[in-house]
Amino acid sequence: MHVGVLGAGTMGHGIAQVAAMAGHDVVMRDVQTEFVRDGLESIEGNLREGVDRGKVPEEDLEATLERIEGTIDLEAAVGEADLVIEAVPEELDLKRRTFEEVADLAPADATLASNTSSLSLTEIASTLDDPGRMIGLHFFNPPHVMALVEIVVAEQTDESTVAFAREFVDDLGKEPITVRDTAGFATSRLGVALGVEAMRMLEEGVASPRDVDRAMELGYNHPMGPIELGDVVGLDVRLDILEHLREELGERFRPPQILRRKVRAGKLGRKTGEGFYVWEDGEIVGVSDDGSGGLGGGADE
Ligand code: NAD
Repeated sequence: MHVGVLGAGTMGHGIAQVAAMAGHDVVMRDVQTEFVRDGLESIEGNLREGVDRGKVPEEDLEATLERIEGTIDLEAAVGEADLVIEAVPEELDLKRRTFEEVADLAPADATLASNTSSLSLTEIASTLDDPGRMIGLHFFNPPHVMALVEIVVAEQTDESTVAFAREFVDDLGKEPITVRDTAGFATSRLGVALGVEAMRMLEEGVASPRDVDRAMELGYNHPMGPIELGDVVGLDVRLDILEHLREELGERFRPPQILRRKVRAGKLGRKTGEGFYVWEDGEIVGVSDDGSGGLGGGADE
């Protein structure tokens, strides 16, 4: 199958990689040659790491790379595509514009997919004359590692498009779940619900950040607790998602003050060195002591 991937960034290059590893011919398009080159280099790096760890056979490395072409020409990416997967930045207007251009250049029967993590797929699809062929394929970061793909079904999506998407995801060796196009889909909605309650527990002094995280890590086998996960994702990103979910789903997603205060102070988590935890070189080295962390240190501090 011919797959066109739009965007060679964090998600685009990973999606191109998993599609090529499954044997598809992939053309990956970005807007500047250097972005395309960076994406191709990242794919090669991922594959090389896979070989070093014994997870990817050496011969698969070259074969996979040979199946991926990079370009800045949209027509070259989608002109012969059976499936187009869009992974451009999370802006509604940009995505709608992109699909309008794709619709003019891609075969009329190509399936069109978006990797949006929060926008309304129904709204994106409404830009097309034949929106039945639009679907959400929500991959997780990094796509070559994460097993889940959320298949998001817009109001207009045809049943045959859903069946095609399931088969494609199965074929990648990934695990699909199918969700109706609603705010936060299944993953963000549940993940954020846990995160927001954990922050409220800190506000109420129920337990320290460490102990709240441990509750879920040891009691429920989560690989990472909800407070640490917020720091890793970025507290500004968490706040944006909460605002969106509150607007769509109601007050239960109202962002807590503790989160607003952190974001106003520029304490955005791992990427700024401090959020609910203090971070150095990507590792937690302590708990933020600005008074917003409930009981403070925790058992191991
Ligand atoms: P990114 O900024 O890393 O990459 C986006 C790339 O798209 C950039 O390289 C940009 O130059 C390119 N681009 C812009 N306009 C383009 C166009 N018209 N055609 C082709 N390329 C274009 O962003 P990302 O993190 O890869 O996110 C992409 C999409 O995936 C977003 O919708 C995001 O919400 C979603 N997503 C991201 C994650 C994540 O963890 N980063 C996880 C799941 C879903």
